[in-house]
Amino acid sequence: MRTTTGWQATGPTALRRTSLERRDLRPDDIAVRVDYCGVCHSDLHALHAYDQHTKAPLVPGHEFTGVVTGIGREVTTRSVGDRVAVGNIVDSCGVCAMCEAGQENFCHAFPTLTYGGTDRQDGSTTLGGYSREYVVRDAFAYPLPAGLDPAAAAPLMCAGVTVWEPLRHLGVGPGSRVAVAGLGGLGHLAVRMAVALGATTTVVSRTRDKRDDARKLGAHDLIDSADTQHMAAARDTFDVVIDTVSAPHDLAPYLKLVAMDGTLSLLGYLGPVTVEATDLLIGRKKLSSAGSGGRPATAEMLRFCADNGVAADVEVLPSAQVDTALDRLRRNDVRYRFVLDMSDLD
Ligand code: NAP
Ligand code: ZN
Repeated sequence: MRTTTGWQATGPTALRRTSLERRDLRPDDIAVRVDYCGVCHSDLHALHAYDQHTKAPLVPGHEFTGVVTGIGREVTTRSVGDRVAVGNIVDSCGVCAMCEAGQENFCHAFPTLTYGGTDRQDGSTTLGGYSREYVVRDAFAYPLPAGLDPAAAAPLMCAGVTVWEPLRHLGVGPGSRVAVAGLGGLGHLAVRMAVALGATTTVVSRTRDKRDDARKLGAHDLIDSADTQHMAAARDTFDVVIDTVSAPHDLAPYLKLVAMDGTLSLLGYLGPVTVEATDLLIGRKKLSSAGSGGRPATAEMLRFCADNGVAADVEVLPSAQVDTALDRLRRNDVRYRFVLDMSDLD
């Protein structure tokens, strides 16, 4: 076993610096020095649901960038010193129809999550990227293209690819009309990507003072979700609505924004939802969802971001301030992603 240092949950609100074990390198493994790890709202959900007495250790973190420090004996595609990026999937069965289609995120045997997952070989619980070192199968560590800043690129690996897959699969491009509900980590990247794909893009937010930010991100308008008149005026006008709102909410106002034959892609709150069928019937609207990305889409997304100057707006904090980052994220006090600098763990 190798040892490293990381931040482990001690309860629903606090993390403690502790020493962690990483596996010895398997033939197809690489060791990554984690330099920057994004703080995703899903980390908050995981911490909230965590009970230290009943659950396996929790070390959050599933969007990080770093440098390869070691390679297994069969690894040929990565070398020590390479810059890499890792997202929220670190393994899959590789043989099911989903994996064969390059949708490892939908692996029938369930993809191995970067933290809180079960390692396919030894059954151990995976520990995430709020740590100085991670050991990962080479196929799930993506080369970080030159030109992408490693701190601003870290959030691309969860927030970014999660919004990228639906934007691409729903055919967003020049002429598309896209609305993004919830301007947070996922939302601000959805705006940047939709704009870079050529769509006319609008933000739907409960936070009116994000209007200037929305414009700077390339959106042409911000609709205050509480302004019923503005919402009514925008009825049936968006081909795609990307919903990144992190809390349970009524889908009806967002379905009403969707244009005929358009789609509401629900990415944020992933619990049970209630839908009035007539909100779908009127306009033949579709309700869809997505999560993370397969390997081809993840690599494509990184190339697109490097080519189009797309990355996250980040506030970088030393990892010792992880509790501050989580607390401010909980209070919606982030513009637009906290990223932890792991160098203080040396
Ligand atoms: P975030 O940075 O906290 O952004 C969420 C945004 O939702 C907030 O900025 C806020 O935007 C809006 N919001 C929050 N609470 C709200 C409420 N009660 N009512 C209305 N709007 C509210 O979070 P994130 O990291 O982008 O993640 C967003 C959600 O996606 C989380 O639930 C996360 O777990 C989920 N997620 C899903 C996947 C997936 O695979 N599908 C992947 C990653 C994350 P405004 O201030 O603009 O209203
Ligand atoms: Zn995430």
